[in-house]
Amino acid sequence: MIPVELRSDTMTRPTAAMRRAISEAEVGDDVWGEDPTVKRLQTKVAELLGKEAALFVPSGTMANQIALLCHTQRGDEVLLGWGSHCTSYEAGAAGAFAGIQTQELGRAGLLTAEELAAALRPPNGHQAHQRLVWLENSHNRGGGRVYAPAAVRAIAGVARAAGLALHLDGARLLNAATACDCSPAELVAAVDSTSICLSKGLGAPAGSVLAGTRAFIERARRARTMFGGGLRQAGILAAAGLHALDHHVRRLVEDHDNARLLASGLAGLPGLRLDPTAVETNIVIFDLEPPAPDAETLVARARAAGVLVAAVGPRRVRAVTHLDVNRAQCEHAISVLDHALRP
Ligand SMILES: *Cc1c(COP(=O)(O)O)cnc(C)c1O
Repeated sequence: MIPVELRSDTMTRPTAAMRRAISEAEVGDDVWGEDPTVKRLQTKVAELLGKEAALFVPSGTMANQIALLCHTQRGDEVLLGWGSHCTSYEAGAAGAFAGIQTQELGRAGLLTAEELAAALRPPNGHQAHQRLVWLENSHNRGGGRVYAPAAVRAIAGVARAAGLALHLDGARLLNAATACDCSPAELVAAVDSTSICLSKGLGAPAGSVLAGTRAFIERARRARTMFGGGLRQAGILAAAGLHALDHHVRRLVEDHDNARLLASGLAGLPGLRLDPTAVETNIVIFDLEPPAPDAETLVARARAAGVLVAAVGPRRVRAVTHLDVNRAQCEHAISVLDHALRP
């Protein structure tokens, strides 16, 4: 039996239709600016996000590191939510390449305009220059929590008044927009730059797109070269991204329904701590309390029964829904986890 894959929405595999789109892609050398499919994807994403220009990059990590590099100088401070991907999961790149330091704000990954205002200080000769505010929407480590457009606008107001730039890591921006029932452009209207991942719940094999002003994207293209991220016939990947944007966005609501189903089924189980009302998108994170086993044990027991979930802490587990898991599989996962939890 094929296991129920809930470890990550990056585990999705290209569908038959996506593979067809890949095989039929018209391509050229994108480093020379001659791949028509990459150009189409960039234009489409710029329009989708209401930005002047966009740039295809191989990964979300590279999109983040390019954005940090282009917005800051070495020694600057970046204000961001607790547990942001760019500082938690990118192998120390933010310090190594952009040379920035960070101040983490807020809880569960999200920060508020008030918390940001309280953390600001006037420039002085002793402390790092505060240069950039960084949001992540939805917030991965925060359990897929979402900033609504009004929250982003409020933060942008504070950032702008202090002369700070604002970037939004939108690896799962389309999940966030789905949860807020608004357009992705509305969610990023107040930020200077943003990015989306094509390889998470959208189901493409690889690729992210960075978007912002024309001048920012020109600098980003140069940074992409520095990082070795210029790909030649990248239309092969861009075609998958275009297919994903055309066919896999409207269905994200199913992933959110499945995540809520999973959360409400798990919430009542003994030893499992989870607030189902905090599940806004496709990520479900829960904690284990004695006498429930620790995360590693639970993950191993579930795996033996054909359900794959991820340990993200000694007693913390993550389950993520996506286009390769359906409602029945989520129901099955609840009963498997129920058994696996018993001491
Ligand atoms: C996955 C992820 C990234 C990085 O994307 P990769 O393509 O895996 O490098 C960046 N930000 C967030 C919020 C993510 O979840």
